[in-house]
Amino acid sequence: MYNAKYLKFVKEQYDELKRINYMPHFRMLGSPNSAKATLDGREILILCANNYLGLANHPEMIQAAKDAVDKWGAGMGTGRMIMTMAIQDELEEKAAEFKKTEAALVYPTGYTANVGAVWSLMAEGDTIVSDELNHASIIDGCRLARGTDRIIYKHLDMVDLEKKLKESAKERAKGKTMIITDSVFSQDGDICPLPEIIELAQKYDAFTYIDDAHASGVLGKTGRGTVEHFNVYGRVEVQMGTLSKAIATCGGYVAGSEKLKYYLWRRSRTYCFSTGFPDPATSGATLKAFEIILREPERVQRLWDNTRYFKKELESLGFNTGISQTPITPVIVGTPEKAEDLSKLLYDEEGIFVNAVRYPVVPKGTDRVRTIVNAHHTREQLDYALGAFERVGKKLGII
Ligand SMILES: *Cc1c(COP(=O)(O)O)cnc(C)c1O
Repeated sequence: MYNAKYLKFVKEQYDELKRINYMPHFRMLGSPNSAKATLDGREILILCANNYLGLANHPEMIQAAKDAVDKWGAGMGTGRMIMTMAIQDELEEKAAEFKKTEAALVYPTGYTANVGAVWSLMAEGDTIVSDELNHASIIDGCRLARGTDRIIYKHLDMVDLEKKLKESAKERAKGKTMIITDSVFSQDGDICPLPEIIELAQKYDAFTYIDDAHASGVLGKTGRGTVEHFNVYGRVEVQMGTLSKAIATCGGYVAGSEKLKYYLWRRSRTYCFSTGFPDPATSGATLKAFEIILREPERVQRLWDNTRYFKKELESLGFNTGISQTPITPVIVGTPEKAEDLSKLLYDEEGIFVNAVRYPVVPKGTDRVRTIVNAHHTREQLDYALGAFERVGKKLGII
């Protein structure tokens, strides 16, 4: 018999999920993820994927994954502390080239990259200064960095950030200080004011760490991210990125100096106690993704053309799209019920998938559906979606 206390715990937790209507509720993809995909057996227009540049099903990436498997096999069979593959090394060089940094280290996911890097960079006596809406992976990294002081500043509020840096100057002097922020925030689609953050970091003896998950492949003329967008090359000490969003495979990386890379290789526990990743297929596909992004900057251009069009039209229909400056465009409706209804009617009646995001993921009263336009959406698809938003929005009394 299994242990009674364990059984009781799992049953209670499971029943609670059912009670609050929070059981995992996923749509089953029956095809690759693209502008249109088969979801639960129906052809659906996907308007909420992180597949910004439409690379998730790119034929050249599929071929590159196959070629890598032919050459390197299906798996690694070892951790990278012991052996590493040339294709993994090549991928890290490519990631560094993409970010224009000296070096990069690739982790199994963006989540483990943030947790591992924050945890190993910050130690007893150090201070972490963090935006209040930072991603869970940053928060978890901070929690693991034992003995550090943590200061939370108001979302994007540079006056508050400066005030807190000034007030804490004396206590902070005993160790080093890191200002850490998402560069594009994943629910509201707003962008951190990076040049101001860098200025404050310099003025108050701190270094800067950005999480570029939703910015890489999206911001900047060639998609290199927030540093390119603001042209602040050489001024951000640590840049984390993920391969799982615009790059459309899986994995995360930390880009910076070569010294940083090898320090993290040895000392960040989510890297060195985890088996070698990315595997050959992912390495091959990801190398190709970087190549395509740099070769075809018109993809980034299309993403932004689509974004501007869709956002402007949604607003002129009378929807509240909040403060977004990026392809992440929320349609804020104010109650969890309305958000669920909007998502459900768009799906059931119009064949469009946008997910509802409710409190507590977003603040009370800002419940929403979250749309993400991609580079591969056609104008007809966007016009169809706008018509559907108008029909459903009127039906629900949102506009
Ligand atoms: C998605 C995301 C991550 C985690 O990346 P994964 O590769 O999916 O683990 C980290 N930070 C932010 C801001 C993200 O949006």
